[in-house]
Amino acid sequence: MIRLIAALLALAPLAEAKAAPSPTLIEIRPVVAAPDGAPVVDRAWLEARVARSNAIFAPYDLRFTLGPTETIAAPVDARVRADRDALAKHVAPAVVNLFVVGTLMDIHEEGRVRRGVHWKARRGGRRVHYVIMASYASEGILAHELAHFFGNPKHRHRPGNLVGYVPGLGLPTLDPDQEARMRRALRRMVKSGELAPRDPPAVPPRAPSTGE
Ligand SMILES: [Zn+2]
Repeated sequence: MIRLIAALLALAPLAEAKAAPSPTLIEIRPVVAAPDGAPVVDRAWLEARVARSNAIFAPYDLRFTLGPTETIAAPVDARVRADRDALAKHVAPAVVNLFVVGTLMDIHEEGRVRRGVHWKARRGGRRVHYVIMASYASEGILAHELAHFFGNPKHRHRPGNLVGYVPGLGLPTLDPDQEARMRRALRRMVKSGELAPRDPPAVPPRAPSTGE
């Protein structure tokens, strides 16, 4: 039985590589608030959220890589609309811009704490959009905001839907119409130059067998 499982595991990547189209690789560029020079989250925090997003978006042929971290002294918290807008001047081209602030507050309901938001703003005359997350956002929030970023503004509160708040079994998923919108948005953003896909990492050479 163990041998059979091992054989299946050995075959699985090969079969997958043949069947699945290669995913589009998009860079997420993190900009982290750093009051007094101390970032509100560390690299491992960011990496965990990108890893979770990659697991969730794998069925949709979309993959993310974490770019270098930039830190900013202000705003540390995003409490009002102007704080969110102020981040626009730090937007980098051709990547998904992710801002991490200490505290993120709702701008409509006073006192309501938010964990993440997909925010549209202007930089000069140009429209930009980006993800803002709070330093206490759990691992799944980034993928939810990325679903908003890629063409799905409306929530769908069905169990397990990525764009809703109702948990389901296993990883959250997109419905077929949401997936179609995601793919269309990605194509549009790549075509316009808003996003520039990265080359996939080279496949490392197979390690020499050391026997068993
Ligand atoms: Zn949402």
